[in-house]
Amino acid sequence: MRRKLAAGNWKMNGTGAELAELAALAQSHPAPEGTDILICPPATLLSRAADTTRGGPVQVGGQDCHAAASGAHTGDLSAAMLLDAGASAVILGHSERRADHGETDAIVLAKAEAAIAAGLLAVVCLGETLEEREAGKTLSVVGTQLAGSVPEGASGATLVVAYEPVWAIGTGKVPTLEQIGEVHDFLRAELTNRFGAETAEGIRLLYGGSVKPGNAAEIFAVSNVDGALVGGASLTAADFSPIISALE
Ligand code: PGA
Repeated sequence: MRRKLAAGNWKMNGTGAELAELAALAQSHPAPEGTDILICPPATLLSRAADTTRGGPVQVGGQDCHAAASGAHTGDLSAAMLLDAGASAVILGHSERRADHGETDAIVLAKAEAAIAAGLLAVVCLGETLEEREAGKTLSVVGTQLAGSVPEGASGATLVVAYEPVWAIGTGKVPTLEQIGEVHDFLRAELTNRFGAETAEGIRLLYGGSVKPGNAAEIFAVSNVDGALVGGASLTAADFSPIISALE
């Protein structure tokens, strides 16, 4: 059985005052049944977030890392630095990074390899634009992204895949449950083709894009949805807690 995963992506939001939200989350879910909780704050908060959550149910992660181990890369962070700051995971290939920073599948792949080699759980994101969906290209787009950004030798212990339709992120628009199920079933089949059934069955598939307390339960009931990657509704314990409860 795959453990469920409620992952929060704070993006470029949060200063020290928001660490209280992590403490509140930990208090509300002292022992989440079969469910992992991950919050990815901005890198400036990572080590304080790790101190706040140490020993409790909430894990912390990064939002990106560089593929190199160290060197002349001003402003970047290596996977080992995230680990050192207390992260156990890192989000890679989020559509905002693919768009804002020109991250290609090859770049995301190199980052995922570096993250896994350093001992982090790689949460690799993929998803189609509205234009691609309307052109009937959704499965071919996500299939290409999956093939191109997921490393050889990945397993459930090292990899999570997050399906995030670009047009659903931060818009309040959500695909139908049938559309989510179609993509998740497809991703599971693609992982099975590539890694074999036993390994593929262990890899968690998250849905992301406008997940809220009001729609989480129905999304989590869709086949092959093992949790969510949540942006806006992960910023406060009041919003994220009922989403975790819907998974538990
Ligand atoms: P959202 O963001 O929940 O605010 O739509 C999801 C994400 O970008 O991971």
